[in-house]
Amino acid sequence: MRIVVTGGAGFVGSHVCDYLLGKGHTVICIDNLITGTKENIAHLADNEKFTYIRHNVSEYIVVEGEVDAVMHLASPASPKDYMENAIPTLKVGSLGTLNALGLAKAKRARFLLTSTSEVYGDPDPEHHPQKESYYGNVNPVGPRGMYDEAKRFAEALTMAYHSDEKIDTRIARLFNTYGPRMRLDDGRALPAFMSQALKGEDLTVFGDGTQTRSFCYISDMVEGLYKLLESDEHGPVNLGNPAEITVSQLAEEVIKLTSTKSKVVFRPLPQDDPKVRRPDISKAKRILGWEPKVDRREGLVKTMEYFTQKIQGQTA
Ligand code: NAD
Repeated sequence: MRIVVTGGAGFVGSHVCDYLLGKGHTVICIDNLITGTKENIAHLADNEKFTYIRHNVSEYIVVEGEVDAVMHLASPASPKDYMENAIPTLKVGSLGTLNALGLAKAKRARFLLTSTSEVYGDPDPEHHPQKESYYGNVNPVGPRGMYDEAKRFAEALTMAYHSDEKIDTRIARLFNTYGPRMRLDDGRALPAFMSQALKGEDLTVFGDGTQTRSFCYISDMVEGLYKLLESDEHGPVNLGNPAEITVSQLAEEVIKLTSTKSKVVFRPLPQDDPKVRRPDISKAKRILGWEPKVDRREGLVKTMEYFTQKIQGQTA
């Protein structure tokens, strides 16, 4: 297939490009580098099946020739990134998704949206773990509204193109994903803990650390996205690792793994930070035959190796 990947120079997108090329597909990566880097795709520069186009997908997208699938990943994804880029985030979720769907329509291509667990907002205990049928509890005007609502709108737009324009669409709801090529300074808990531990600084936990997260290793996520693209499912599908831990436990695991003398320090919890996060992946298991394979220890070791090299590069 000839596949367009928007946001292909980002963390998840660059791994998607690698995976697709590994399957023999041709990849056209479109990215404006607002939060991604060329370094993430530098190793693909000489691959004749790979093309990079620097472009803001919130503007009209032009791609020459046939396209079989559009995987729309472009969007700032970490809270720090989207809060610093509120309007570009709302634009890429709305106009960017419209343009990516427009491309899929013009080329009669399959379309996959990477939505997020953040569409569930801050769930009440009755809706834990989160199932696709849960409508969510999102504050539209809160500090995370620009991301959560942009993705909710993107899902609605995708469904409208499916029902009205008969576009062959997919909606993946990604839960926290981690691994090599995350930015050390993207503000998310896992890279922050790794960076602090590897530099011998104290690890900052926001709130009392009892809030939970579930972390999916990148290779599992990319496989899930590909299986969804290959499937016939048009409704939203959760992709994530159901192994849930508290943020304090994660900090302790990182301390142990890195053998640092760093301690944990607590800071006030930001507004609207979800208290619990765990995917119900029974739908993905049933229709895609997919579930994560990489356990947290293995994934953390691989991620630590990457971050260690990064930090050594910064200090060299
Ligand atoms: P990222 O910031 O590393 O990658 C996003 C990429 O999109 C970047 O390369 C950025 O430059 C590009 N981009 C943003 N706006 C653009 C625009 N207007 N035009 C062109 N390119 C643009 O983030 P990520 O973690 O790789 O996330 C990828 C996708 O997965 C996002 O849609 C995100 O919402 C979703 N997601 C990620 C996670 C996660 O844990 N990483 C969780 C839920 C959902």
